Amino acid sequence: MKKTIFLLFVLVSSLLLTACQPDNLSQDSDQHQQKELDDRSKEDDIDLEESDSSNNKNNDNSDQGQEEEKNNEGSKGTGEEHKNEEQENNEQKDEEQTKQDKHIAAVEEGTGLHIVDNPGSTKVYVNKQRKLPTGYTPDNLVVPDVAHYAAKDDPKRQMRQVAATALEALFAEAKAQGIDLIAVSGFRSYNRQKIIYNYNVENKGQEHADKYSAKPGTSEHQTGLAMDVGSANETAATLLEESFRQTSEGAWLAENAHDFGFIIRYPEGKSNITGYNYEPWHIRYIGEEIATEIYNKDITLEEYFGYGY
Ligand SMILES: [Zn+2]
Repeated sequence: MKKTIFLLFVLVSSLLLTACQPDNLSQDSDQHQQKELDDRSKEDDIDLEESDSSNNKNNDNSDQGQEEEKNNEGSKGTGEEHKNEEQENNEQKDEEQTKQDKHIAAVEEGTGLHIVDNPGSTKVYVNKQRKLPTGYTPDNLVVPDVAHYAAKDDPKRQMRQVAATALEALFAEAKAQGIDLIAVSGFRSYNRQKIIYNYNVENKGQEHADKYSAKPGTSEHQTGLAMDVGSANETAATLLEESFRQTSEGAWLAENAHDFGFIIRYPEGKSNITGYNYEPWHIRYIGEEIATEIYNKDITLEEYFGYGY
């Protein structure tokens, strides 16, 4: 009897203990445990799969396995060769593409200057790193019907037809607003630029020459799209000087040239970009759209194209 009572007591107290256990907690911890196990088994599965496959590769000594391995090596080898060839081809293509994008026909031996492939385009871009093909002379050079400083038969009166027409419109509008401009220097041949450059080197030194004049082939004047402009009542002493910007002609030109497709090619404070000192008199035709963008953004042609050479 005592034994029965004891057993009953044990039964009841164990039931009570079970009932008092916080069910939620046990459930939660179970779930956590289960989740942890799930996660671990997932990770293990991945690890196992990986190690399995590597084991197969490493330990499979069957003929088939060896053959497969050889095949793999073989295709891997040609794959790498292909890759190298492909890379080289891509690099060549990139280089070609870059040349095309930048309108470079070739790099000149000796000087390292980049020869442009579009000398006849109104968008041609030359500077101290980019030159026109040696001896290039633009087609259809004409004398714009404006006031000229140069003598009647001087080739510096000339510009390409498209630029000459735009210059006539610019001068006409200026005149209508009481601005008296004069054309000083337009087209300059390769040979003439060579004479000017060499003269400057001899008389003013290399550094000065490189600051103010262009190496033959790198002058915008050779494109037939540029014109140096002055104020009609200037004397020879003040023509093509920075003080032009302070004249009403210089001020007008800076604010209005873009409406006629011209830019001030070498603006103030940008000589580190253009390579040239400020030249408020040098305008270059590039078309109204680009000229206006360059004017509005207050940038140089270098910045417009986004590359220096
Ligand atoms: Zn000029």
